[in-house]
Amino acid sequence: MIIILRRKTEQSDIDMLRQYLENKGVEYEIVSTIEANFIKIKTFAHLLDLKHINQFSSVLKAVRLSTSAPLVSSEKGKKRKVIELGGVKIGGDEFTVIAGPCSLEDEVLFLNLVKYLKSAGVRIIRAGAYKPRTSPYSFQGLGEKGLDILQKASTELGVLIVTEIMDVRDMDLVYRSSDIIQVGMRNMRNYSLLKEAGKQDKPVLLKRASDATVDEWLLAAEYILNEGNMNVILCERGVTNSLSCKSVILDLNGALEVRNRSILPVIIDPSHAGADRSLVPALARASAAADLDGIMVEVHTSPKTALSDGFQAILPEDFKNLLSDIGKIRNALKG
Ligand code: PEP
Ligand code: MN
Repeated sequence: MIIILRRKTEQSDIDMLRQYLENKGVEYEIVSTIEANFIKIKTFAHLLDLKHINQFSSVLKAVRLSTSAPLVSSEKGKKRKVIELGGVKIGGDEFTVIAGPCSLEDEVLFLNLVKYLKSAGVRIIRAGAYKPRTSPYSFQGLGEKGLDILQKASTELGVLIVTEIMDVRDMDLVYRSSDIIQVGMRNMRNYSLLKEAGKQDKPVLLKRASDATVDEWLLAAEYILNEGNMNVILCERGVTNSLSCKSVILDLNGALEVRNRSILPVIIDPSHAGADRSLVPALARASAAADLDGIMVEVHTSPKTALSDGFQAILPEDFKNLLSDIGKIRNALKG
């Protein structure tokens, strides 16, 4: 970070700024040239708040030269993260497909669907036991009963489980029943939840809030890494949009940008981004063509009777066709 100082400024104003920097524990150097006087921040620039610094009366302009999310950042040629669990890799050369219903509903139907998805090659199953719903009158998920079903699927069918945590008080329960802990888009800014997820030794799938900038999303991930959990998967699931008839739109640009700027694997949720079954396969194929790290897709045997997000769930047979298309796209990319 560079802080350019105003030409005519009182020493006492500069001292106030220096006091702020010293309290933050950063190392700095004051440089005087014919053109300007400025302060060069030498260490821990990410601890400084740009907006705050720009408010000091001695400051003409402060400019960040490096990232404010150093752990997540890919700068200085850091190696990309490959998450390995139960023989499955997320990141690197893999294109990981996670699939399953939006919510856990019926045990038998769920286990049958998991068997089908597993036979199609899926190793990681998604399903929510705690559902964030807009209306308090909508199905809220099966809660602990749903977590028990997830455990059954995991032990009896040998699949890995990703499920959402909504409340920090449920961390132990969700931890026990999952292999990957999902933080949904509504909780991307729930900083206590992010910190708690950062204390776990299981990967965290962090969805982007539909109104979050790429920087906010990266900083949310930084919260998790900063607590010691380096295994974060970023998931783009559609951003707020007012230009077309769709309320959200898949932000492939944003996904590619975070993939460039961070070391973390980036996957796409074409189901929530499309919010319409007919769009899901095309968005999923586009994600594979963009050479991102994977997708998470909602699949349901009876979308019409699904208790949540049925309108965007694809049928198992359509999912199988999608997998075959993705295989072809991946082969074409390999040349
Ligand atoms: C979900 O994955 O079912 C979900 C609720 O996702 P989001 O947080 O992206 O809305
Ligand atoms: Mn859903």
